[in-house]
Amino acid sequence: MTTLLPNTHFTYSMWIDGQAASAKNGQTFSRESPAHGVKVGEYPLAGADDVDAAVAAARRAFDIGSWPHLPGAERAKVLLRTAELIRASKDEFALIETLESGKPIKQARDEMEWSAALWDYAAALCRHLHGDSYNTLGAQVLGFTIREPIGVVGMITPWNFPLLIISQKLPFALAAGCTCVVKPSELTPGTTLRLGALLAEAGLPAGVVSIISGYGEPAGARLSEHPDIDMISFTGSTEIGKAVVGSSKSNLKKVELELGGKNPHIVFADADLEAALDAVVFGVCFNMGECCNSGSRLLVQRSIADDFINRVIETAKKVPVGDPLDEQTKIGAIIDGNQFEKILGYIESGNRNGARLRLGGKALNRENGLPDVASRSLNDGAKSGRFVEATVFDKVQPEMPIAKEEIFGPVLSILTFDTAEEAIRIANNTIYGLSAGVWTRDIDTAFTVSRGIRAGTIWINTFMDGYPELCFGGFNQSGLGRELGRFSIEEFTELKTVQVHLGPRTSWWAKETK
Ligand code: NAD
Repeated sequence: MTTLLPNTHFTYSMWIDGQAASAKNGQTFSRESPAHGVKVGEYPLAGADDVDAAVAAARRAFDIGSWPHLPGAERAKVLLRTAELIRASKDEFALIETLESGKPIKQARDEMEWSAALWDYAAALCRHLHGDSYNTLGAQVLGFTIREPIGVVGMITPWNFPLLIISQKLPFALAAGCTCVVKPSELTPGTTLRLGALLAEAGLPAGVVSIISGYGEPAGARLSEHPDIDMISFTGSTEIGKAVVGSSKSNLKKVELELGGKNPHIVFADADLEAALDAVVFGVCFNMGECCNSGSRLLVQRSIADDFINRVIETAKKVPVGDPLDEQTKIGAIIDGNQFEKILGYIESGNRNGARLRLGGKALNRENGLPDVASRSLNDGAKSGRFVEATVFDKVQPEMPIAKEEIFGPVLSILTFDTAEEAIRIANNTIYGLSAGVWTRDIDTAFTVSRGIRAGTIWINTFMDGYPELCFGGFNQSGLGRELGRFSIEEFTELKTVQVHLGPRTSWWAKETK
């Protein structure tokens, strides 16, 4: 399959109260492809008044609309149709995401399938939301806890997996009966904006979901502090997550956070090293390393370290960096200038602090292998954008910034350990706690290390697999709450106790005056 760079950009509308909408002030903003340096999208620039209009629509749809009261089976039909429509839009959506984010097109197509699968799974949960009943409180009492939708949910998402991340939130909130206002990242809003019309086609009533495009300030901030919003579900950096918590105090709304990670990949000498090798290289190169789950730290047992590190380097060397529209590319372009500088800054810090650079370490330019993007372009203005080669440091010490901080680029930091206890200690030496991989054939080691690591997901003898059934989220400063799995729908509910008295009630007056 050959995909060409279009000769013109896509234009988008917001989706407010069941209709396509421009920003009230008429302003727009645009996006350049990070791989091709040409404009690929133009979007309405939401101000605080657009956010207010979207929230008002969602409030009405929740307070007086039908959606929260529909049978689960009816809500499920809408989610299932949405999944079908996402699949039908797969090629166009993948192109949009590749153009906006620089991710490889083949991977983008897979992400559309994974996104649709989340809508399918959430549809099943629509029919399984339930509370508890207590028949043990005495002859005259029946007690229930019932789950009700929490209300209007604001959703703020990052740029690295645009449709996938909104699909980890939106169908689950809808399954619970909530109404929602969504703000995707200003860098990659295209597919999320397109979702509005798909939801309407699937039968979602007007106002239940509104989608606005704009920057963190003012749009994201207004959403976070809005007094008519009951919950914010945020995915992004730990720094902005903390700002969202600050804004949420205006009305003490619930906050669910999916934040950053510095995830260790721990390889013991007895592991299937061939399988571990593949997973280590995949873990750091996937999505250019711009991935919360990136396996950006390799902890390798000292007895096999030299040989295993050499093999990691030989394999990482072969990972194709290039035009993300090329089906063979596995490392595409870096999202923007800030992230590009941040990655290069961490590489410099690794060199400065005494880690040993074993592979890569450079931005690609014309002299050292800059990918030629012109051959796949219908656009005369195309020029190669920002690319960083796969980079490996060994002799990294646990206190170095490249060992502890999220780089969000294709940069692997390698540390060594002797014992399982030491591996756990190094693994936990970070503010994060999102995920970790453990490679061993010894069941005691596998479970001891899994229990010792403070992270929300542990992969044993695999890495970065995921299923809608399995919950996802972070310990420590990687987040608050969980997405996916059967508990995810409960995040979007309030618990209410209903207590029933059977038969005559003993009067307070009679009791007090006995
Ligand atoms: P970011 O925090 O810069 O932005 C995320 C979103 O917040 C964007 O939509 C942005 O416009 C918005 N925003 C910015 N300022 C805001 C404010 N003051 N108030 C409200 N919203 C505001 O993150 P990013 O650069 O888009 O994404 C990368 C980060 O996301 C990384 O740290 C990564 O680890 C994290 N991430 C986490 C997960 C997860 O599931 N744990 C998944 C993907 C990405």
